[in-house]
Amino acid sequence: MNYETLGEQTKAIHAGESPDKVTGASAPNIVMSTTFSVDANTGFSVETLNENDPWIYTRWGNPTLQQLEVKLAALEQAETAVVFASGMGALSTLLFHLLKAGDHAIVSDVAYAALSELVKDVLPNLGIDISRVNTANLASISAAIKANTRLVYIESPCNPLLRITDIAAVADIAHRTGARLAIDSTFATPIATRPLLLGADYVIHSLTKYLCGHGDALGGVILGNRADLAPLRKKTAIRFGGSLSPFNAWLIMRGMATFPIRMRVHEDNALRVAEFLERHPKILRVIYPGLPSHPQHELARRQMKNFSGILTFRMENGRAEAARIAAKLKIIHYAVSLGHHRSLLFYLHSEDLLKTSFSLEHPEQLESWNEFAGDGIFRLSVGLENAEDIIADLRQALED
Ligand SMILES: *Cc1c(COP(=O)(O)O)cnc(C)c1O
Repeated sequence: MNYETLGEQTKAIHAGESPDKVTGASAPNIVMSTTFSVDANTGFSVETLNENDPWIYTRWGNPTLQQLEVKLAALEQAETAVVFASGMGALSTLLFHLLKAGDHAIVSDVAYAALSELVKDVLPNLGIDISRVNTANLASISAAIKANTRLVYIESPCNPLLRITDIAAVADIAHRTGARLAIDSTFATPIATRPLLLGADYVIHSLTKYLCGHGDALGGVILGNRADLAPLRKKTAIRFGGSLSPFNAWLIMRGMATFPIRMRVHEDNALRVAEFLERHPKILRVIYPGLPSHPQHELARRQMKNFSGILTFRMENGRAEAARIAAKLKIIHYAVSLGHHRSLLFYLHSEDLLKTSFSLEHPEQLESWNEFAGDGIFRLSVGLENAEDIIADLRQALED
């Protein structure tokens, strides 16, 4: 079936799925089998694997995983997708597939902590040269380009600052020197932004977040062109072995049926909570792409069709307040992660993060960090509870 002309909600429900040919079952079956009975000429190496070969071994490909890949590709308007056991499984496979000793990559100076640490601690030991830059500043990217730059890696909005990068402009800069552009679009989701249509070469999502949406399955995906992803699957993904469990693929597909609807409610709730916090006397600063007070609100409006559900706020003595608030919350969970139906709050202390995950050396980088985060931020992933209940929970937790 051709999904291109269908709406987002129809794609989210039907893409990749059809009634089972044997039983007529309307909901997808979960194929947990790790191996498949094959004919006697089947090759034993993935080197001889072709795209339309029958199923052989689940690490190479599996009907349930493929259903999820088709659904994700339809929503992102990508030619194809490869799913992984986690977002980090997707990200590490992409980096090790694209980069080798002697290559240079430009990576957002602030990005998901585990990705930042991988790029800081592991890649340089393999002879890969890394420049960390504030990718919201286009001049910094241009200045960092070298003759051997193979990859520009961005996150928008970035975790945890919610700083936004102009994807089309960065695609232009990267492509002018023959580098590829990869973007982690977990915070934006395909409902807000379709980076491939803006010129990006690879889009990555942690499926653990909004796409699954229910906090009960880890998963990751890389989306892009078939010409890029067929070799990535064959040469790197299958050999690294970060395969998604078909059971988790099925849970993620189940979550995705309501994904476009959920994003509307996440956005509505987040805007109401952001406005409440902005008026609260104990809150120093709120950052949410949907608020006119976001330093890049104009870019956010241009690039995001939905402002998603994550906001940050700052308080005097954030660390002490975090301990007090965590003990008082009744509905919101004090926990890491985001994009779940449950609201999740977590405090991130700047001094700690700048030691463990980010090394911001340039004064411009520190200035930008301070503008968005100051001494530390509360990251709130606004869930799907009634907005008035989320606000009431925050109001009572913020009281002295
Ligand atoms: C959570 C997250 C990841 C990592 O995903 P996992 O599924 O936990 O491995 C990567 N990028 C962003 C922006 C995230 O929020």
